[in-house]
Amino acid sequence: MTATSLRGIHSIEDFDLDDQRVFLRCDFNVPISNGVIQDDYRIRAALPTIQYALEKGAKVVLASHWGRPTKALEDRPQFSLEPVARHLNLLLDKEILLLEDPRGEAAKPVLAGLKSSQIVLLENLRFETGEEANDRELAAAWLEFTDIYINEAFGASHRAHASVVALPGLVEKKGIGFLMKKEIEMLETIRSHPAHPFTLVLGGAKVSDKIELIDMLIDKVDVILIGGAMAYTFLKATGHSVGASRVEGDKVKFASELMERMRSRGKKLLVPQDHVVVKDLRDVSSTRVEVGASIMEGWMGVDIGPQTRQLFAEALAESKTVFWNGPMGIFETPEFSSGSFAVAHAMVESSATTVVGGGDSAACALASGVVDRFSHVSTGGGASLEFLQGQRLVGLEALRPPKRSESL
Ligand code: ADP
Ligand code: MG
Repeated sequence: MTATSLRGIHSIEDFDLDDQRVFLRCDFNVPISNGVIQDDYRIRAALPTIQYALEKGAKVVLASHWGRPTKALEDRPQFSLEPVARHLNLLLDKEILLLEDPRGEAAKPVLAGLKSSQIVLLENLRFETGEEANDRELAAAWLEFTDIYINEAFGASHRAHASVVALPGLVEKKGIGFLMKKEIEMLETIRSHPAHPFTLVLGGAKVSDKIELIDMLIDKVDVILIGGAMAYTFLKATGHSVGASRVEGDKVKFASELMERMRSRGKKLLVPQDHVVVKDLRDVSSTRVEVGASIMEGWMGVDIGPQTRQLFAEALAESKTVFWNGPMGIFETPEFSSGSFAVAHAMVESSATTVVGGGDSAACALASGVVDRFSHVSTGGGASLEFLQGQRLVGLEALRPPKRSESL
């Protein structure tokens, strides 16, 4: 079944790629520290489309942004896509040329002389001031070496930037890659037609970050499981003491209203019944399990406890669709990661369609060791949430063929 949002939008498979120059906008905005890629999930997610284009004989021009480079030239090396080029070289076992100045004189013959199944990577798109300004002239310069435009950068598709909006606006043959297709199809399932019971698993740092998502999905969900720091605001709303845990005082009312909304509709909202707590975040040796929902004075909740993991696992086992956004605890610290990992395992062991959204949640799914067993782990942080909240993605809209009246 094709997602409604994709109606009228071409897929890379619709085009004859042989000998064509394909501008493949990817999202290689991966964590890099001291030149070393920390997590290549987003790069690997684009490989099927890159490989497909190469197999079909395309001349592949890869493009991506990375980080938020300052305009100072001397800062450029730390924002270079050089580590990405090296990594792609390893993954594809193919030579990849990094074009430092894609619009410069030196690049022209390289781009003009590209052969079928060859591949180049343009240097960080954000080195161009016109990129974030959605500049048409910049897009026109890229058009010089573009026959077909493919958007595979789901994570950047909510931004009106030149490589996402202005360029496809100038190209006739345009469409999406396999990753983009899966992102939209899976998120549309969550948004529009989830199989029931549909369980929403929420965690992370703040209730306020999740309110729009809750509002968007509340009519569809059957069960909400709440962990992470946001759980303490809910516990506070039910009159429990939460010790030194993070609480958003101004969201206590929202929490109690949500619990009431769920209750009155006969739906389940589960909060933690026990916790992993610490006295001092810098001293993990103070870690202990707090039996019971209340937390003692001076202690801080950092993960869901064993009884809660069991409770959540039981709800997940009965689910047919699961959407997860927000880790159950401070999973970046190994001592506080067990709750999130237990929930990840329970999800993949259920027969449900399981979709993970959010940057930290994707990192958590990856660290859980079972990332490949989720139905889908979205590569888009902000983009996936905007899409779920019902917003149109500008990058997707730019791929629709113009309506007849517009093209006259
Ligand atoms: P996503 O990026 O997937 O949307 P969030 O940004 O909402 O997720 O939340 C992730 C962050 O929440 C993590 O960095 C994690 O450390 C933090 N977090 C989870 N539980 C707690 C807690 N009990 N106390 C403080 N921070 C927490
Ligand atoms: Mg986050």
